[in-house]
This record gives sequence, C-alpha cells and structure tokens, in this order.
Amino acid sequence: MAGGNCPMPIRMPESEEVMDENCLRIKKLLDLYREGKLTDVQKADVEYHLLVCPECIFLLTLVPSLSPE
Ligand SMILES: [Zn+2]
Repeated sequence: MAGGNCPMPIRMPESEEVMDENCLRIKKLLDLYREGKLTDVQKADVEYHLLVCPECIFLLTLVPSLSPE
C-alpha cells in the first residue's frame, strides 16, 4: 500500500491583466461613444480605456461611422 501523494502545484500567473471586464463594459459604450451620447464620465471612461487597449480602438474604428448629414 503506497500512499501516493500527488501534489499538484497550481501556478497562477501573477500579473494577469484583467482587461476583459473593462473591454466588455467599453464595448457596450462604443456605439454610444460614436454617436456622442455618453456622459462626460462615460466618455472619459472610454477614452481612458482606449489609451491602453488597442483592441477596443480597433473595434471603434472597425465600424464605419454612419453619420447622416
Ligand atoms: Zn478594451
């Protein structure tokens, strides 16, 4: 009877950037951002995120702005 002790070290990455949460929030705001319908606080929130998140900048520029004239 061998006491098989199997230690399983779980290594978590220490600095996993929690971007997803922010991205999800920002993505929801991007449409309104394009339309200029955000509050100042929301707009600042989006713009600050765009500074650090190329992916969201891409999303912002991806959709052609449909501005009826
Ligand atoms: Zn993002």
